[in-house]
Amino acid sequence: MSERVRNGAYDDWLDAIGDDEGYYVECENGHGWLPPRRVCPDCGSRELSEEPLPEAGEVATHSTVHVPTPQFEDDAPYVIAVAHFGPASITGMVRGADPEDVEIGTVVGVEVGERATTGDRAVVFRPR
Ligand SMILES: [Zn+2]
Repeated sequence: MSERVRNGAYDDWLDAIGDDEGYYVECENGHGWLPPRRVCPDCGSRELSEEPLPEAGEVATHSTVHVPTPQFEDDAPYVIAVAHFGPASITGMVRGADPEDVEIGTVVGVEVGERATTGDRAVVFRPR
């Protein structure tokens, strides 16, 4: 299963992260979103602008996956975290840290990596 189907806005966003030009979208009420979308789920605004993604985010939640589904078995164990970058939240895999060292509040940068199992692109956090 190596065929890659591009998923429009999400792949464009991964490209931007890979080029160090990450962004999130924000409505006029300050609600921030990722992946990018056209309508703010909070207030229904369609006036969303692209804002530069802060260079560092903070881990808000995390969990360690020891027994993954088969398509991720070569990645295990791995840590999935949600990190806050300004008003936007991003979900990704944490690399470059032992799972037990990842805590709420850990400061991370975001980059594009590959899943060890499938080679698919993935959002990767690295502690700073
Ligand atoms: Zn909004």
